Amino acid sequence: MKLHEYQAKALMAQYGIPLPRGGVATTPQEARQHAEQLGGRVVVKSQVHAGGRGAAGGVRVVATPAEAEEYAASLLGGNLVTAQTGPEGVPVTSVLVEEAAEVAQELYLAMLVDGGARTPVAIASAAGGMEIEEVAMATPEKVLRAQVDPVLGLQPFQGRRLAYGMELAPELVRPTADLATRLYRLFVEKDCTLAEINPLAVTADGRVVALDAKVDLDDDAAFRHRDLQGLRDVGQEDALEARAREVGVSYVRLDGDVGCLVNGAGLAMATMDIVKAVGAEPANFLDVGGGANEEQVKLGFGIILADPRVKRVLVNVFGGILRCDMVAQGVVAACHEAGSRPLIVARLQGTNAEEGRQVFRDSGLPVQLANTLREAAEKLQEVVGP
Ligand code: GDP
Ligand code: MN
Repeated sequence: MKLHEYQAKALMAQYGIPLPRGGVATTPQEARQHAEQLGGRVVVKSQVHAGGRGAAGGVRVVATPAEAEEYAASLLGGNLVTAQTGPEGVPVTSVLVEEAAEVAQELYLAMLVDGGARTPVAIASAAGGMEIEEVAMATPEKVLRAQVDPVLGLQPFQGRRLAYGMELAPELVRPTADLATRLYRLFVEKDCTLAEINPLAVTADGRVVALDAKVDLDDDAAFRHRDLQGLRDVGQEDALEARAREVGVSYVRLDGDVGCLVNGAGLAMATMDIVKAVGAEPANFLDVGGGANEEQVKLGFGIILADPRVKRVLVNVFGGILRCDMVAQGVVAACHEAGSRPLIVARLQGTNAEEGRQVFRDSGLPVQLANTLREAAEKLQEVVGP
């Protein structure tokens, strides 16, 4: 689950990480009031679940409260398109107004999980700011890493080493190392998949301040953080993915036009491989799970049908506790409800497979039945064309 910058900063404040003063606004008038209270120059920042806001014109330093109001009015209610969003962008429903810092140097600091090493890792760079991705590509030696032993946590010497590596003035090494320790504690205690500060700014008056904040929470640890679940902003999420979460099925939207309905994550991955092997692209990953009921299958299939890119669907089910006939009934019900007749290739095996095939035969829908995965691939290939 992604957080907004202002929410991430509220968490960082709890951990004593130095931040600019500021407040969040949902109307231009509120933005003006914050600017008046802060006095002087402020920065107005669109709050969206995407990076690249600065380069996209979604962050601006303004000189007066009137300008803050005017700029906030131009952002609020619109969509912001950045390099990290789709072409339609994401809606801006709030802005963060903060005192503008005099920036002397922009650093990068982040905590994330190194899947290969199976440990947390701290990443730091003296070359922070909006071009960090290019820095990492072109000059990877400028990106420092410290692998963290999860039992010991980020050690003070590791924090100091990163701070030295960020080419800081000697008096800033200790506060920056301390800041890294605080960020690590937040990362672990809140079960984050990412806690990132970019830029971590050195100000003209010699302080180290988190100008930006990005925190992603691990959904699998949500049960341990009930208090944080209210931070979810479904307006920022893909509408179909949000609906899938309500239905209780695991769905990720992709770019292709072959919908996939599968039970089990491993089988879902294999099914997407098959779609690609016959020269097509999957429209989604959808795992209804081993214990889905007919209603969930119906609603899950409805989500597939609601994606206008979907032209055909591969149903690949290995029935165990989940019965194939129930899956077939759910699929047929979804098609009737949506008034939709997509080309379906269905491979059913396991519990009540034959009953399931009969449901499809009786449905009047254009369903191609397959007994094996190979057969399903061949039928899909015929449907997709060469
Ligand atoms: P992002 O582009 O979505 O990562 O948004 P950021 O919060 O990182 O803002 C983009 C850029 O705006 C930063 O890299 C800074 O260069 C600049 N910026 C943000 N806040 C301030 C500020 O208080 N003062 C100044 N001078 N620049 C700022
Ligand atoms: Mn940033």
